[in-house]
Amino acid sequence: MRILIIEDENKTAAYLKKGLVESGFVVDTASDGNSGLLLANEYDYDVMILDVMLPGRDGWEVLSEFRRKGRNTPVLFLTARDSVQDRVKGLELGADDYLVKPFAFSELLARVRTVLRRGPVRQPDVLRIADLEVDLHAHKASRGGMKLELTPKEFSLLALLVRKCGEVLSRALIADQVWGMNFDSDTNVVDVAVRRLRTKVDDPFERKLIRTVRGVGYVIDND
Ligand code: CA
Repeated sequence: MRILIIEDENKTAAYLKKGLVESGFVVDTASDGNSGLLLANEYDYDVMILDVMLPGRDGWEVLSEFRRKGRNTPVLFLTARDSVQDRVKGLELGADDYLVKPFAFSELLARVRTVLRRGPVRQPDVLRIADLEVDLHAHKASRGGMKLELTPKEFSLLALLVRKCGEVLSRALIADQVWGMNFDSDTNVVDVAVRRLRTKVDDPFERKLIRTVRGVGYVIDND
């Protein structure tokens, strides 16, 4: 079981890490929101422990960004204030539980074990739209039973469209979620990538799945 701790107070982070390692967990730590989010996106953690007040992106931004990517790792957030607004906000943004600082390590451990037992609310690993099948876990896609040979970026793009099926995704959102950066509005990298993806996903088939919404972006419909 692997845990990510995002906490900028080194003493707290070290104390939590020591306790969790002694309890048999593999623990990574990050001391600011940006590097924490990078780690969270890179690896499959079983639980994330997230401080709210962080330099760079704060815990709320990390959490909403992480969930926006469709990631469902359980998240426990740590808040310094016992405020109802904070708790509600955290849970609304997709956290699974929270602890108010200061807390006893035994309490944290109990919460970690509870969210692990509950497990993440999973999206199914294989998503289907018409005869298109996207296996998010195995990173494979097929159409009409034929395997689609996609590059990793093409797969990410397709997976995003399929996960957000029916939602028109703007170029900016696609650029952010697939490439993790903001492109100048005059670059057409997203259009080029969608065109390439279409040659594999749509061109050989009669029914076209990827639809361009002029002036807005792209969508895959399921109807
Ligand atoms: Ca902090």
